Amino acid sequence: MNKIIEPSFRESVDLMFDRASSLLDLKPGLEEKIKVCNATYTVRFGVRLKGKIQTFVGYRSVHSEHIEPVKGGIRFSKAVNQDEVEALAALMTYKCALVEIPFGGSKGGLCIDPKEYEENELETITRRFAYELAKRDLIHPSQNVPAPDMGTGEREMAWIADQYSRMNTTEINSRACVTGKPLNAGGIAGRIEATGRGIQYALREFFRHPEDVSKANLEGTLEGKRIIIQGLGNVGYHAALFLSKEDGAIITSIIERGGCLSNDQGLDVEKVHQHLLENGNLVECAAGKYNEDSKHCLEKDCDILIPAAIESVINLSNVERIKAPLIIEAANGPITAGADDILNKKGTIIIPDMYANAGGVTVSYFEWVKNLSHIRFGRMRRRQEENRNQLLVQELGRIVTESGLNTKLSEDFIEKYSAGAGEIELVRSGLDDTMVNAYQSIRKVWYERDDVNDLRLAAYLVAIERIAESYHSKGL
Ligand code: NAD
Repeated sequence: MNKIIEPSFRESVDLMFDRASSLLDLKPGLEEKIKVCNATYTVRFGVRLKGKIQTFVGYRSVHSEHIEPVKGGIRFSKAVNQDEVEALAALMTYKCALVEIPFGGSKGGLCIDPKEYEENELETITRRFAYELAKRDLIHPSQNVPAPDMGTGEREMAWIADQYSRMNTTEINSRACVTGKPLNAGGIAGRIEATGRGIQYALREFFRHPEDVSKANLEGTLEGKRIIIQGLGNVGYHAALFLSKEDGAIITSIIERGGCLSNDQGLDVEKVHQHLLENGNLVECAAGKYNEDSKHCLEKDCDILIPAAIESVINLSNVERIKAPLIIEAANGPITAGADDILNKKGTIIIPDMYANAGGVTVSYFEWVKNLSHIRFGRMRRRQEENRNQLLVQELGRIVTESGLNTKLSEDFIEKYSAGAGEIELVRSGLDDTMVNAYQSIRKVWYERDDVNDLRLAAYLVAIERIAESYHSKGL
């Protein structure tokens, strides 16, 4: 049997970039400048664990410093390699430009399976990795600001922030050296849920445009749409939870490592997640029917497919069998360049990673701003806003009573209108606004240019043009 040869993840990202840049009239040489990864630092360090020195390999790649600091998550996974880190760093550059977040692109990774280590061992390893990066300014509030990614979360970010502040005791902005921290260590409300929440806002915006929905051969709203989701980690869990609980979508299958759980009536996402946390897999989860064949589950009939685990899961070996008319890329790079071409020819609508999963970096930006301003969002205004709103509610109530109308203001209205915006409300509002604006900028290109037939190409065009403008204004 002939082996199918596909480009690597980084080559896929570059191919997609080339497709877009060939449609732009960039200054000679600028295309290459934007595309190449500026630098990748590889570190090998030893940590003494259980009486033996173990050597770890880590990377921090800086794709573009056209705006600083550069930004991008740190991933803990056995599969981490230079090609992957560089692809992810490039995607960060394009993503930040697309959602108008003032950061360049970066990414980091450590080749490690976190499940193989005790918590105290992981802390030692993470702190040592952070030390190696911080001493080269690859963690720095004004130069390079990491965040969580696959295999890392709040806990690791808190260790990194603490390690950085130990090394920089007089740096007043040290908390801004990393985002995705717990609330009590300088984090922001809504960061954990941010990427999943962004997926929800992106889909809501897509379904606000009936013409776009009909391009995917769908109609109506998110209510009742059948969704398959791959990966019930941070991103997948929150996306599945919000879409099912708040938008009435039906999660028919959840694919995890080793197997797939299905229920045509809709899976109870919280129950499935609890089972996964307790058992590490979905075997014998009572919420649905378990099948060990997780690969073919991606190919089942559904309205929306959400790959939210790892890259290249939709590739030349399975793309012809993918039935979903709409795919939203919650993970980075889940569709290879070859599979992307085939899906586009089939008419599948793909909401691309660069836009779809930008919720994380958007709320990370809010956290960074919060850390630099040293004050919680809403702290100065919330009560004043509430007092003014209550004044208006009282006055309206008085007018209604005095005019003798046989009615009164509803309790629901009074409660909703009176409340001032706290941090979580402001974060969600800022995220929603970001996702709506970015979709509209992509959509405009999608509809206005005859040579653009898909959302990914449109997203690349918007991002590359903005980066090119930034270089122009620097005189390049
Ligand atoms: P995570 O580690 O919290 O979750 C990943 C989940 O996918 C885990 O439950 C894991 O068991 C599962 N998984 C791994 N390989 C799988 C496979 N082959 N089949 C099925 N399931 C598999 O990671 P996350 O933070 O949710 O990130 C997921 C994806 O989203 C990654 O591509 C990441 O780069 C991207 N992303 C994450 C964020 C963020 O804020 N965390 C932001 C933007 C993009």
